[in-house]
Amino acid sequence: MLSKNYEFWFATGSQDLYGDECLAHVAEHSKIIVEKMNESGLLPFKLVWKPTLIDSVSIRKLFNDANADDNCAGVITWMHTFSPAKSWILGLQEYRKPLLHLHTQFNEEIPYDTIDMDFMNENQSAHGDREYGHIVSRMGIERKIIVGHWSHERVIKRIASWMRTAVGIAESSHIRVLRIADNMRNVAVTEGDKVEAQIKFGWEIDAYPVNEIYEYVNDVPAGEVEALVEEYYSKYDLILDGRDEKEFRRHVAVQAAIEIGFEKFLKEKNYHAIVTHFGDLGNLKQLPGLAIQRLMEKGYGFGAEGDWKTAAMVRLMKIMTADIKDAKGTSFMEDYTYNLVPGKEGILQAHMLEICPSISDGPVAIRVCPLSMGEREDPARLVFTAKTGPAIAVSLIDLGNRFRLIVNDVECKKTEKPMPKLPVATAFWTPMPNLEVGAEAWILAGGAHHTAFTYDLTAEQIGDWGAAMGIEVVYIDKDTNIKDLKNQLLWNSVAFR
Ligand code: MN
Repeated sequence: MLSKNYEFWFATGSQDLYGDECLAHVAEHSKIIVEKMNESGLLPFKLVWKPTLIDSVSIRKLFNDANADDNCAGVITWMHTFSPAKSWILGLQEYRKPLLHLHTQFNEEIPYDTIDMDFMNENQSAHGDREYGHIVSRMGIERKIIVGHWSHERVIKRIASWMRTAVGIAESSHIRVLRIADNMRNVAVTEGDKVEAQIKFGWEIDAYPVNEIYEYVNDVPAGEVEALVEEYYSKYDLILDGRDEKEFRRHVAVQAAIEIGFEKFLKEKNYHAIVTHFGDLGNLKQLPGLAIQRLMEKGYGFGAEGDWKTAAMVRLMKIMTADIKDAKGTSFMEDYTYNLVPGKEGILQAHMLEICPSISDGPVAIRVCPLSMGEREDPARLVFTAKTGPAIAVSLIDLGNRFRLIVNDVECKKTEKPMPKLPVATAFWTPMPNLEVGAEAWILAGGAHHTAFTYDLTAEQIGDWGAAMGIEVVYIDKDTNIKDLKNQLLWNSVAFR
């Protein structure tokens, strides 16, 4: 579902003060840097070398070319020599895509025995990058700065990680959310200003009557439903819970029809995320469970009870993590219940059905169980437990006059014992820095019970996305303490009004 072959441009700044020989070296060096970084195999997208920029005309043209090029997701800038920063003003003013300032130099070590003034003039990133950085700061332009030698794995990996943020920034404006139900009655945190979300993030959020999509479900040919049920049966374990096998299969088939019908509707109308609501199911026979879980695994965003903000965030994370080798998964999630035993504190995460199987650890099974909400027949769902390890939980909230993004580092664990009577997929985590401070900080910041959850992005990546969108980002991590957080929220309320 992510079709574009994005690339990033590498732009080197210099000037003609030091003569043609120096400029030839500058070009040669930047070509080598681009070549070696591409060869490293660590970058998820291709770096494209651009000719050295020495004046405001060439700088302005490069940034406008980058704006106009659909494949270019960002520009990486580096000042090899001194590059007077007034010549960057016009170009930077007109540039609209993500910007990375790579603060590096060609040589790793000072050449103690041979260094002279010519070498110093040619290799003065420490000098030139400060002049350039000054004007970017003065102009208040959001950018990423990465410091270190370009050959170091740590530096290349940080660039790789920023590239995914940049693609998230570029792709955010393509996200379209399908609402087939309004917000759950009386619920506050899942509400929000959809017009402001489109202005800030570029999201299009549209509503359709649920029965319009139901027609697509109803029209799915029986043969297609049967084929998909066969696929489910070959892929997943079955936990019958004593139910009649035929009756069980009939329930599963309802979800297969929903998956096919919903996906056809989403594709036809070009939506990438969907929200449902158990209180508004129209003619649907079951609350979409297994069907939504499968759609999320395919890359669609999802939010329950009409939660379009979380649906769009899940889709954004699916885009940012697309094609990661050994990805551990991304899902819609909900804080449910606690374990408060000292030393074993954590939050059991689940939803009534809709957790993405991309986060599963080990076997995935189908169960058909009653659901008190929704007043429909027992829905089929996939059950599993989630992987262990570090992850992030993200909540985007609307404070009435602005958005706030809350990002919590969490440590996922196995529950101490299995929970055989719980018929839903689960994760279990301890929020950083610990449950006591993490939960207090989350609640102080106004974080929701719904989250967008992923193992495959860092807080830095999603926080940089938020910064690029111009919204407040609150990190809750190993360094969080309540006293400082309260001050931060107070100061931010002044800064962001
Ligand atoms: Mn919910």
